[in-house]
Amino acid sequence: MIPFDTQINFILFEIPKKNMQSKLPQTGTTIFTIMSSLAAATGAINLSQGFPNFSIDNKLKNYVIDALDQDQVQYAPMPGRLDLRQQIASKIANQHSLTINPDTEITITAGATQAIFTAVAALIATGDEVILFDPAYDCYDPSIRLFGGKPIHLKLSFPNYTIDWAELERTITSKTKLIIFNNPQNPAGSAWLEEDLKSLEKITAKFPHLYIISDEVYEHLQYTGIHQSVLKSDLLRSRSFVTYSFGKTFHVTGWKIGYCIAPPEFTKEFRKVHQFNVFCVNNSMQFALAKYLELHDEWKQLSSFYQAKRDLFQKAMTSSNFKPLTCQGTYFCLYDYSAISAEKDTDFAIRLTKEIGVATIPVSVFYSDFTDHKVIRICFAKTDELLLQAAKKLCKI
Ligand code: PMP
Ligand code: GLN
Repeated sequence: MIPFDTQINFILFEIPKKNMQSKLPQTGTTIFTIMSSLAAATGAINLSQGFPNFSIDNKLKNYVIDALDQDQVQYAPMPGRLDLRQQIASKIANQHSLTINPDTEITITAGATQAIFTAVAALIATGDEVILFDPAYDCYDPSIRLFGGKPIHLKLSFPNYTIDWAELERTITSKTKLIIFNNPQNPAGSAWLEEDLKSLEKITAKFPHLYIISDEVYEHLQYTGIHQSVLKSDLLRSRSFVTYSFGKTFHVTGWKIGYCIAPPEFTKEFRKVHQFNVFCVNNSMQFALAKYLELHDEWKQLSSFYQAKRDLFQKAMTSSNFKPLTCQGTYFCLYDYSAISAEKDTDFAIRLTKEIGVATIPVSVFYSDFTDHKVIRICFAKTDELLLQAAKKLCKI
């Protein structure tokens, strides 16, 4: 019998050293990590990565303490705690007058990112085409590629960032398995009208082989019109994985808890992947979220809360040389800096961080062809004080 230490050495030294073939050769570190690190290194105000800098509701904190007091610290059930799934079903009944079965249609995930990844993993095989819209949230394209899928990038219109539905219809082929979109849209800040939902419904009716991932993490952050969830349409709902994030709704991005709503047969396949991906999600936090949802409805005030922040920031920026683009939803607003500089947006964002002391996100990174409209994204999920400080700095350039 070889001693244990020797076995470890054997393993360490005998494995042939060869370069690992990358499954994502074009992918580097995400822009959120890059810009947040640069902000930390330079001491700049961080309006880049999307996360709130203010405290969460004390009631929610106290439910976490209750969870610990009650030793709710072991594995949660694989699909998520039933009390949380039931509360989500009640919330959706309240929002959309819809009945969703908590047993068969809701799965709690480690954030919307895992929900999207798991849905893609459950659906996509080599050669499947997936349509997405640039500027696209960063996790969609690599998730598709990892499973051998072929991302087909269409562009949202500029500067309104709307979907050209006729172009979408022309792009669908027999190989198109899935369409992924995000409404309200990060990074653009645009939101769908009722006509958009109707257009998607018509297209979906024509192509019975199509699946949908509708990323609705900013469902409560809409300032123009009302949120057009795919859940409102029976046809769309019957084809969709719909993803949500408590990170956005309760200001807890670091908890990484979200959920996926999908028809029972989709959920079954989703959970087959989920159980071997994470198996289950943080039990204590699920307990706290279930209690919070049961006893409070703070989410109803979320859009007016963020609208006030958007307005405060935009007002403070009126004397700047930045031009705001329309922001109908999310906690991001885009600014055109073409009156200030002709630099590439990535260079400009780095210079803005280092010289002006405000970190933002260059929008070209969300395009597969790096289209540069000279636009940066600003996150306004910050205290009013920080937003005013940042605007003052930005007015200087
Ligand atoms: N989709 C979009 C559009 C997002 O902006 C984010 C995160 N900000 C996610 C998904 C991921 O959400 P989570 O942090 O819950 O994984
Ligand atoms: N969704 C956040 C944003 O858009 C970032 C999340 C992350 O860093 N992965 O800024």
